[in-house]
Amino acid sequence: MLTFILAMLCLLVVAGLAVSKRWLTVWAAIGMVIMGFFIQCAFAVQGLLVIFVFFISSNLISLINKRAGKKKTSSEQRTLYQVLANGGVPLLAALGGCLWPHPLWIAIYVVSVAEATADTWASEIGSIRGGTPYHLILRRPVPKGLSGAMTWTGSIAALIGSSLIALLSSLMFYSDQGLTLILVSFICLSVLGWLGQFIDTLLGGLLQARYQCAVCHTLTDAKDHCERVSIKVAGVSWMTNNLVNGLSSLLAGCMGSLFFFINLG
Ligand SMILES: [Zn+2]
Repeated sequence: MLTFILAMLCLLVVAGLAVSKRWLTVWAAIGMVIMGFFIQCAFAVQGLLVIFVFFISSNLISLINKRAGKKKTSSEQRTLYQVLANGGVPLLAALGGCLWPHPLWIAIYVVSVAEATADTWASEIGSIRGGTPYHLILRRPVPKGLSGAMTWTGSIAALIGSSLIALLSSLMFYSDQGLTLILVSFICLSVLGWLGQFIDTLLGGLLQARYQCAVCHTLTDAKDHCERVSIKVAGVSWMTNNLVNGLSSLLAGCMGSLFFFINLG
């Protein structure tokens, strides 16, 4: 009980800090605290630690990019929708774990957090430190910031991010299962998290609305470019980046349950 209270206090401090540092909006921070509560109920402090590593590492990379002057925007506060897009499936897994405690939920939880980490690391590192992105659907290099494109740097960053979550989770959740299973879990969870991120890019390229600037003809995710309304050239107009993130997070969760049934079920 004491650990639970201490962890909740830590969570409140982190949430307060995230708002003051303009990492999160107030609503996003409230969402994070509620999410943290259920995660702790279902997966104890270990579960909280997993999502904490995702949150802190992603924001630190963003901060380093900003400090290095590689990022133009001064503030990129995450909204509640953005938190839910990446944290919705982990939250559902936690709620499932609270209602019906079962190791299946841990696998769903871990792969969806690994996917979110891979996705955030890929976009934070790839878009700023990577070269020209390659579009998976258009099969050609495209300008930075267009959904559906990837860089080698971003892809490697995604694998490292996913592996970090997988390593931590394998050691904490599967430590009593023997060295072989820890190793198998580590490899499977790393790959599945990375694969989820790859699917995210693929879905972004396939489904997300793509626009072309009427003035400079640049392809963009934005509805406006060069102070003019852009022309939609592909994708579904209501399919936003948050929806694509949520969808791929759901698929990552499904892959997590598959991992459970094959290796641990
Ligand atoms: Zn333009």
